[in-house]
Amino acid sequence: MGCANGKPGGAAPGGQGIPGLNVQDHNGSPAQRSTIEAKIVLLGDSGVGKSSLALRFCQGRFNPFHEVTIGAAFLQQIVRLRDGSQLKLHVWDTGGQERFRAMTHLYYRDAAGAVIVYDCTDPHSQESVKYWVHELRTKGPPDVRMAVAANKSDVETKAVDPQDMKAYCDENNLLFVETSAKTGENVGLIFESLATRVAAAHQNRGQG
Ligand code: GDP
Repeated sequence: MGCANGKPGGAAPGGQGIPGLNVQDHNGSPAQRSTIEAKIVLLGDSGVGKSSLALRFCQGRFNPFHEVTIGAAFLQQIVRLRDGSQLKLHVWDTGGQERFRAMTHLYYRDAAGAVIVYDCTDPHSQESVKYWVHELRTKGPPDVRMAVAANKSDVETKAVDPQDMKAYCDENNLLFVETSAKTGENVGLIFESLATRVAAAHQNRGQG
């Protein structure tokens, strides 16, 4: 995937001190009251569908021959929240290859949210979810909000039971959503739910 739709670098630092958040206040209608920019990173093994989820969410497309992401690339999408404010998401797609793991912290260190993706036909990729949760909790920004995507839900023969991962996510206060970048199922839902949590964290900080 190539960089697209805007300046590289993700959301600028700021936003009441939350990494990955940048807030611009406007004096217009409530719908234009503020635009929050938030950096969201996609993490997970190579081949689980990170690039495909970003492409589906940001451009509404699915490319079965998507090329491997080297390093990281980003796309953007705007989410409108219930209170009328807008959240511009900078969606960073990281290369999941083992050799890039050592540098992945460069991408998530200033993220407001993370979608950890696994492939529900690949048990090894499900195991990696715990690795990424641990990484973010120990080395990521303190306020980072996390969601887990059980991707490729369109494939009938699943190798792992989604209930196991759902139970783990419930215990750890993580969003859990079964997605398909191929059909688009729940792709908007996972990013929008995460965006809502990111915005809530921002508001809590503002009041605190
Ligand atoms: P990444 O390495 O994690 O970025 O994975 P890609 O997005 O490049 O996807 C790897 C392969 O899985 C590609 O052949 C995709 O077409 C395929 N793929 C991605 N998402 C889905 C999905 O939801 N369903 C199915 N059936 N295939 C998918």
